This record gives sequence, structure tokens and C-alpha cells, in this order.
Amino acid sequence: MAGRHFLQIPGPTNVPDRILRAMDRPTIDHRGPGFAALGRRVLERIRPVFGTQGEVIIYPASGTGAWEAALVNTLSPGDAVLMYETGQFARLWSELAERCGFAPEVIPGDWRSGADPEAIRTRLEADSGHRIKAVCVVHNETSTGCVSDIPAVRAALDAAGHPALLMVDTISSLASIDYRHDAWGVDVTIAGSQKGLMLPPGLSFNAVSEKALASAASASTPCSYWSWEPMRKANASGMFPYTPATNLLYGLDEALTMLEEEGLAQVFARHDRHAEATRCAVRAWDLEILCRVPEHYSSSLTAVCMPEGHDADAYRKVVLENYDMSLGSGLGEVAGKIFRIGHLGDFNDLTLLGTLCGVEMGLHKAGVPYRPGGVQAAMDCLDGKVD
Ligand SMILES: *Cc1c(COP(=O)(O)O)cnc(C)c1O
Repeated sequence: MAGRHFLQIPGPTNVPDRILRAMDRPTIDHRGPGFAALGRRVLERIRPVFGTQGEVIIYPASGTGAWEAALVNTLSPGDAVLMYETGQFARLWSELAERCGFAPEVIPGDWRSGADPEAIRTRLEADSGHRIKAVCVVHNETSTGCVSDIPAVRAALDAAGHPALLMVDTISSLASIDYRHDAWGVDVTIAGSQKGLMLPPGLSFNAVSEKALASAASASTPCSYWSWEPMRKANASGMFPYTPATNLLYGLDEALTMLEEEGLAQVFARHDRHAEATRCAVRAWDLEILCRVPEHYSSSLTAVCMPEGHDADAYRKVVLENYDMSLGSGLGEVAGKIFRIGHLGDFNDLTLLGTLCGVEMGLHKAGVPYRPGGVQAAMDCLDGKVD
């Protein structure tokens, strides 16, 4: 098919040409003198993206690896962890915790809203023996398009006077939705390269607090590849304890330059604006947004409910085959019932409108009942003709 494929899933996202060019270079000796400058540059400049002055560990791994790293570095075998099931990614993280030998306790959610800080506070208050060692929350639940209020979760731990670590997955929110590791009192922040950071898959991150480092010093879960200690030692001089993903680090260097040029505040505002225009389109189509709490709307993706009797995956197939656009599928509990529009990363007004055109043409082509005019509504929203 002629023209560019539209990769409008909520990660991996479209990689800008600038980043592709930056990676298209010879791989250098990661123990040679040329590497340290690159290592130091990315390790230093990634910190403000997390809103931290502390250290950020970079793994050559997918986000799942960084989930595991956060747990195995700070916890001991059998430790209880409190997890909030906002959706499929929260569920997968708790399954991983169980397989790693921890004891996850899951607060069920409705898959249509973010985490409930009150439920977390109530559970922590009942844990007077402080058996729970960590509270794990997904900031932007990519399977539902719902954001959790992390400062409110922090406040819940504080109100309960509970010493558990706070761990937050920002894999689909970092560099797209406002996030502050230090100011919000998070102990381990987990992120990945292939969503808001606009890179290909293959890098993931742990931002760590002093408290997390102190827990790591006494945690007894065996770990080697994921261990923070050798990483931190090598990182102090810009190096890595094993072969890093050098070419992805070239890309990260360029991605950080792009984020610095635009400014994080502008990046967040751009995502907010495109998300709002997307919701204007969905409402105009007379379709339902999966997220039922407006304060929890995600700025990086929108999950849309299919009308009764219509299969979301059949619809996505029509869109792919006719318009060469990939939309996100429903995962877990909502498989076949929703589709997800990714609007994060390297994105502008026309990318959004092209995406929404594909969604609207697909609704027509697939025979899904809808009201025409969603794209017009999004244009009006972008133009400031509404609100
Ligand atoms: C994509 C995603 C993951 C999984 O990351 P991988 O890189 O596929 O391992 C985990 N959590 C969230 C919130 C995600 O969006």
C-alpha cells in the first residue's frame, strides 16, 4: 500500500525521522573512551523527564523487565505487595510479582477508572503490622485509557502512616502526561522507551528514591542482571556493567534533545489538547468513552466502546485492510468490546486528524452504527471553536 502506515496503537508509537537518523550509526565500543560521554549525557538528561534529581537506571529490556527489576531489587521473598487492578497492565504486573515469589494482594477495579486512593488507605490502615512492603499502581492504564491520581495515592500512604514503598508504572505516560517522581514521593518509577519517548522498543527504566535504595541494601531476593548496584557503580562514570543497547541510547540522546527543544510543559499540553479533540470526535460519533470518570481521562490514548453486537476486532481489521492503520485492541476483560486510539509521542494536529479520518471511514465501511461528523468536531475543538 502506498504512503505511510498509521501506527496508532498506544505503543509502540511512530518513531520520528530525527530519531531514526540518530540511531543509524556504527555501534561503538561500550568500554572505549567514546562511550562514557554518551552514557553520562543520557543518564543525566533523562532525570528531568521523570521529575527527579536522583538516579535513573536504564536497562536493555522491555518495560516488563523494569517491572521485575523494581520488585526484585527492593523486596525479599514472600513479601506482600498491594496492587490496584486498574486494567490488564496492572493485572500482568501482579501476575509477574507472584511468579517472582512475592505475595500480591489485588484491590479489584472496574476497568473504567483509575485507582481509588480511599480503598488503598483503608487497606493500609488495616495492615497495622506493616506486612505490606510496596504499593504498586499503574499511572496511565493503557488497556483502559484511565489515569490514576498518584499524589492522592501518596497521600493515602501518608494518611495511613504506612511505610510501604510506592511503585508507579509510567510506561505509557512518561513524556506524555505530567509526572513528578520526587515531588510526588514515588520510590520506584518504571518506564519504557517505545511510547511517549518516541523510541523503538528495547529500553526500560527505574527511577529510584533514597528510600528505595535503602530497601535494596537489605532486600534478599536474588538478582543479578536486574541488580541496581553494579549499574549504579558503572553509571557513575557513564558506563554500563554489561553491553548496553548502544544504538537505542543514540536515539534516546536525540529524543531528549527533542523534548528539551519543545519543553515538557508544552509536550504535556499538546497531548492534553489532542486527547480532548479525540474525545470531541468520539462524542460526536455518539460512541462511548470507556473511562467513566472525566478527571481520569488519559491524554495518551482513548479507549472507545463498540456498540452492542459489533466486534471491535472485526472493525479494527477493516480499518487495517482498507486504510493501513493499526488501532489498539481490547485486552483482557474488554477484548473485542473496545478499540484504542493512541495519540501519544510524535504527534501533531494533522496526524490526529488523519487518524480520526481513518476511524470514521472505518466505522462507515464496517457498518458500525455511528453519527457522522466526528472529524469535524475534532477540527472545531483544535480550532478552539468549542468550549
Ligand atoms: C506497554 C505497557 C507495559 C508493557 O511494556 P512492555 O515494554 O511491553 O514490556 C506495561 N505497562 C504499561 C502501562 C504499558 O503501557
